Amino acid sequence: MPEFKGSLSSKLPSVGTTIFTVMSKMAAEHNAINLSQGFPDFDCPPKLVELVNKAMKAGNNQYAPMPGILKLREMIAEKTESLYGTSYNPETEITVTAGATQAIYTAIAAVIREGDEVVIFEPAYDCYAPAIELNGGKPVYVSLKAPEYSVDWNAVKKVINHRTRMIIINTPHNPTGAMMSAEDLKQLDKLTKNSDIIILSDEVYEHITFDGSKHESVARYPGLACRSFIVSSFGKTFHTTGWKLGYCVAPKELMNEFRKVHQFLVFSCNTPMQIACAEFLNDKSHYLELGQFYQEKRDFFARHISSSRFKFSPAAGTYFQLLQYNGISEEKDTDYAVRLIKEAGVASIPISVFYHKPVYDSMLRFCFAKKNETLEKAAEILCKV
Ligand code: PMP
Ligand code: GLN
Repeated sequence: MPEFKGSLSSKLPSVGTTIFTVMSKMAAEHNAINLSQGFPDFDCPPKLVELVNKAMKAGNNQYAPMPGILKLREMIAEKTESLYGTSYNPETEITVTAGATQAIYTAIAAVIREGDEVVIFEPAYDCYAPAIELNGGKPVYVSLKAPEYSVDWNAVKKVINHRTRMIIINTPHNPTGAMMSAEDLKQLDKLTKNSDIIILSDEVYEHITFDGSKHESVARYPGLACRSFIVSSFGKTFHTTGWKLGYCVAPKELMNEFRKVHQFLVFSCNTPMQIACAEFLNDKSHYLELGQFYQEKRDFFARHISSSRFKFSPAAGTYFQLLQYNGISEEKDTDYAVRLIKEAGVASIPISVFYHKPVYDSMLRFCFAKKNETLEKAAEILCKV
C-alpha cells in the first residue's frame, strides 16, 4: 500500500466522516433497521425510471448544457412561480446541480471570502460549516430555541456586524422537523434590509409539510428573494436520493457568480435524469401530494410508538421525527444511539453532532421515509426499550 510521507496539515482538522455514513454503516454491520440516514426504503415512481431509460435509449448520453437541460430549468421556473409567486429566468437564474449539497457548496464558494462571517442555526445540517471554512469564512452559530426549535431573532441581530456576509436558513428543518413561519421571514427581511447580506435558503423539504401548514420559501418575499440563493433537491421530492440531482435559483447577478464556480466543480449534471425529471414535473400531483404522503407515514410511526417511553411532538415538516429518551437513559445521545443499534437493532442519528459544541438533550432523529412494515417493526422494538 502506498504511503504519503510528506507533511500534511488538514484544512478541516476537526471534521471526521459524516454521521450519516457512520450510522448507516453501523446499521448494516449490525443488521439493524436503518432509520438513521435520510432516504426512502421504497422505490421512486416507476414512471421516472421509464423516462430515464427512454432518454438513454434515445441517445441522450453526452454532456448536458453547463447550467442544466433548458426544459428542466423551464419546469423549475414554472413550479417556483406557481407556488411562490416569483418568476426566475431559466436562462440566467436557474442552475441544475449534483444535489443540494453541491448547490450549497457552490453558493458559499461563489460569495464567501477570507474573514467573512456566515450565520448558521444550530442544530445545523452538517455540510454548512465545512463549506464556509474551506472558503475562508467563519461560521457564527445561533442556537434554535428548544423544544420547538424556533429562531431567536434578537440573538441573530446581536451577532450581525459589518463582516456578516451570509445567513443560512433551512426550512422545513433538518434535523428537527421545525418550520419557519411567515413572521420569521418578516423578521429576516427586516434584519437584512439595506444590508449586503446574502441569504442561502436550504429548502430541500419544501414539499414535505404537514397539517396544512404552508412552506415559507424566501421566494414569497421580494425583499428576501432579491438577496437569496434558494436550493432544492429532486432526491427528496422524487424519492431519488441516489440520483444526486437538485437545483439553485437566484437573481442573475448572484447566479452569474454561482455558475463561475459550478462550471469548474462539476461542469454539468447527468443528462438522462434531467430529461426524466423535466418530464415528470408535468405531474404536479406528485409534489403537491407529497406532504400528505409523508404525513400519513409520520402519523403511522407516531401511533406505533405512542406506548413507548420516548417523548416527542410530531414533526411539522421533513421526513424526520425527533424522539427524546431522557426517561429511559442518561447516556449521551452518541452512546445511546450506538447501543440502540447494537442491542435493540434500530439505527437513528444523535442530535448533538449537529452542534459545534455538543448540546446533549437526549434527542435522537428517526427517518420515517420508510415502508409501513419497516416503521412498524422499528416501532415494535422502540416500544420495548
Ligand atoms: N440540505 C438538507 C437540509 C438535507 O437534509 C440534505 C440531504 N438530505 C441536503 C441538503 C442535501 O441534499 P442532496 O442529497 O440533494 O445533496
Ligand atoms: N440528508 C440526509 C440526512 O439528513 C443524508 C444525506 C447524506 O448522507 N449526505 O440524513
